[in-house]
Amino acid sequence: MKGVRAKMPRRPALKKPSPPGPKDPVGVYCRVRPLGRPDQECCIEVINESTVQIHPPDGYRIFRNGEYREMQYSFKEVFGTLVAQKELFDVVAKPLVEDLIRGKNGLLFTYGVTGSGKTHTMTGSPGDGGLLPRCLAMIFNSIGPFQAKRFVFKLDDKNGVDVQCEVDALLERQKRDAMPVPKTPSGKRQIDPEFADMINVQDHCKVEEVDEDNVYSVFVSYIEIYNNYIYDLLEETPFDLIKPKPPQSKILREDQNHNMYVTGCTEVEVKSTEEAFEVFWKGQKKRRIANTQLNRESSRSHGVFIIKLAQAPLDADGDNVLQEKEQITLSQLSLVDLAGSERTNRTKAEGNRLREAGNINQSLMTLRTCIEVLRENQMYGTNKMVPYRDSKLTHLFKNYFDGEGKVRMIVCVNPKAEDYEESLQVMRFAEMTQEVEVARPVDRPLCGLTPGRRFRNQAFREELAQKLEIRGGPISGETEEQSASEILLQNFPPLPSCELLDINDDQTLPKLTGVLEERHKLRQKLSEEFAKNVLTFKTILRELDSSVMSKENHFQGKLSEKEKVITGQKTELERLEKKIKTLEYKIEILEKTATIYEEDKRHLQQELESKSQKLQRQASDKRRLEARLQGMVAETTMKWEKECERRVAAKQLEMQNKLWVKDEKLKQLKAIVTEPKNEKPERPSRERDREKPIPRSVSPTPVPVPNSQRLVSNQQVHRRSNSCSSISVASCVMEWEQKTPSHKHTGGNSKTRTRQQEPGQSRDCNTSDRRRGMCWTGITEVPKSRDELEIEEDQCCRGDVFKTRGGGQAVQFTEIETLKQESPTGRKRRSSPSNADPPEDAADSEWTDVETRCSVAVEMRAGSALGPGYQHHAMPKRRKP
Ligand code: ADP
Ligand code: MG
Repeated sequence: MKGVRAKMPRRPALKKPSPPGPKDPVGVYCRVRPLGRPDQECCIEVINESTVQIHPPDGYRIFRNGEYREMQYSFKEVFGTLVAQKELFDVVAKPLVEDLIRGKNGLLFTYGVTGSGKTHTMTGSPGDGGLLPRCLAMIFNSIGPFQAKRFVFKLDDKNGVDVQCEVDALLERQKRDAMPVPKTPSGKRQIDPEFADMINVQDHCKVEEVDEDNVYSVFVSYIEIYNNYIYDLLEETPFDLIKPKPPQSKILREDQNHNMYVTGCTEVEVKSTEEAFEVFWKGQKKRRIANTQLNRESSRSHGVFIIKLAQAPLDADGDNVLQEKEQITLSQLSLVDLAGSERTNRTKAEGNRLREAGNINQSLMTLRTCIEVLRENQMYGTNKMVPYRDSKLTHLFKNYFDGEGKVRMIVCVNPKAEDYEESLQVMRFAEMTQEVEVARPVDRPLCGLTPGRRFRNQAFREELAQKLEIRGGPISGETEEQSASEILLQNFPPLPSCELLDINDDQTLPKLTGVLEERHKLRQKLSEEFAKNVLTFKTILRELDSSVMSKENHFQGKLSEKEKVITGQKTELERLEKKIKTLEYKIEILEKTATIYEEDKRHLQQELESKSQKLQRQASDKRRLEARLQGMVAETTMKWEKECERRVAAKQLEMQNKLWVKDEKLKQLKAIVTEPKNEKPERPSRERDREKPIPRSVSPTPVPVPNSQRLVSNQQVHRRSNSCSSISVASCVMEWEQKTPSHKHTGGNSKTRTRQQEPGQSRDCNTSDRRRGMCWTGITEVPKSRDELEIEEDQCCRGDVFKTRGGGQAVQFTEIETLKQESPTGRKRRSSPSNADPPEDAADSEWTDVETRCSVAVEMRAGSALGPGYQHHAMPKRRKP
């Protein structure tokens, strides 16, 4: 005997959310039972084949201030009040039975309030069998001729199944039959009239494609979950009249494949629908029926009827079960009749009952919670823990939701108004349940043996029997042989009476002798015939022998041929396997490469994205900057335009002033030339008047201004002491000095003198108190080299230095001498394009006479660190026409 662990609802490895592969939603069907009385108010209507509408009853509406809301609920299919059990079975349960026979698991449960028709749907009512007897009938209709002998399959106590050969099974049968109790129910037993009409299913429904090369065995168990305890309803307990023992509860365990099972639960092997239903009925009788006010028949417990189907293939001869543990499949179909889903207070249960009802609802609450969490996990990808362990009911069916299988639920509703609120709850739960998905069970692998073995074996046996019959009939049993010899003896002539009545009787003995001789002859004939027959038989036997031999030879030849083919195929198989391995390896490498590339691609895409974002940012920055720059350019342009205009105006003013100064100087010089020496040159009255009221104050040391811009801005400082409309002589001198950072002066003795104005440094030409001074001034342009020199001028100014009233000093030029040397290349240089002298410089360069030189004077302010300042007294030069 070989112990075999069978396949059970497959469960994924721990911590895995759910097995991969296709999934199917839980199939939820709705059945509306007919009203108990026709005058009852109805609150549920079947809208179409998949929708029901539920509306509040009249009283409810009044109670809720006229609020009227019709709700519609959709299910996979809705069965109205007129739908027959068979129709429901065909749609809901038939696919589950088909799956069971194909080695897949299923779970079917009825859900609803008490009195809604759960038991009617699952078990049925007298004369109207429900889903359970119909499932059993379909199973046995399908596997009937292919059932294994009893005890060929044996379920162990760890949720596994063992297989043993038929001889061992026979021995075990004999052993069990010898035992007084318990006995396996016999298939030939009389059907209990209590349920006879419930299993009298006439439609002979069966699965079309049953694997006929398999042998099958059905095992049933029936448990009850009551107050969150599990009881075995098939357990044989010795009945103690004096001290009856309460039933022992069972515990749940997990098997090797992580499937849940009830330990020590009775599992009965059944061979027919009747036998199976009888077992169920026995358990049903044991069920606790709580007598609530709602429904006297209603059960306060969950009833779970489990049908296990063990199947294994026949061996290659199609004769015996293959003794290979890997080839056994154990599938199961659980049919669950749940307790009423109504709330505790509605049942008006008291004391013990209340606790029962509470627990019933607790386990249904857990079922609801589990479904909710499962749905949430599946819909939103969360990984919340499903509280299967919170109740025995959910713990037992954990594998269906976590693993694989087909789960179907029939929601039973009673359309009566009193059930309105409870029915609403039921509908909501049912609708939510539809959103939960369960992994689709996979097809079991094929055993690899040639299909049609069973029928070939049967055909062979039949043929053999026929042939034996033709050639003298089968070797009959003892009784048949006896009767043949009797018939033979009857054919002998009967013996006459051997009684000698008289001493002279000479007739009896000769008669007997004659009969005996006749018998002897007959016997000889018979023995001759027998010898002939033996001879014929021997010949036949020899013929048979030779034909068998020839057939054997033929088969041997065929066998060797087949073996050769098999060897060839094996080699081919090996080659292909190697190829597969190589390809798999290649695929693996390619997959890895693809992963790497994908990773790279992802990285690059990310990089691209970030760069394009950066680019976009930069572009937008650039645009902003451009806009800003344009704004700034426009602003600056405007500013500079204004500035230029302002400068042009200032310059014009300055030029006018210069012109005036020159004119003045000219006038003064004229006056100097014409008038006696002591007379001071007079400034234009306007200018003088303007200066007069302004007392000279201590001014800050003039600082050299680096560029023309500063010069312009400095004009404002000089306006303090000069005319507000013209620039001062000092500013002109400063400007001139800045434009000519170093000057070469050639004195009368041809000595070069340099005048440089530095802050804090007094000028060379200052003298103490009142004295006459000489000051050398250069012309406007100083040539860069000796070769370029065209006109070389030296001026020698003589004048008096006075102390001014303000504490400063003033110089009064009395004489200006101009020494001039002209170079032949002079004109050329002036016209040179490289000469970028400003126009005023050009104008200045035209000053060639003595008058012109006097227009350049130096002003030193009182208190200045530079020492005595130069005061301009010359008249402005008039421009030459
Ligand atoms: P539950 O098991 O939900 O408490 P039952 O199946 O015991 O309810 O049904 C209560 C009563 O209603 C039973 O007498 C049953 O015969 C009847 N009943 C339920 N459903 C139907 C139906 N679809 N057609 C006819 N009678 C029904
Ligand atoms: Mg019931």
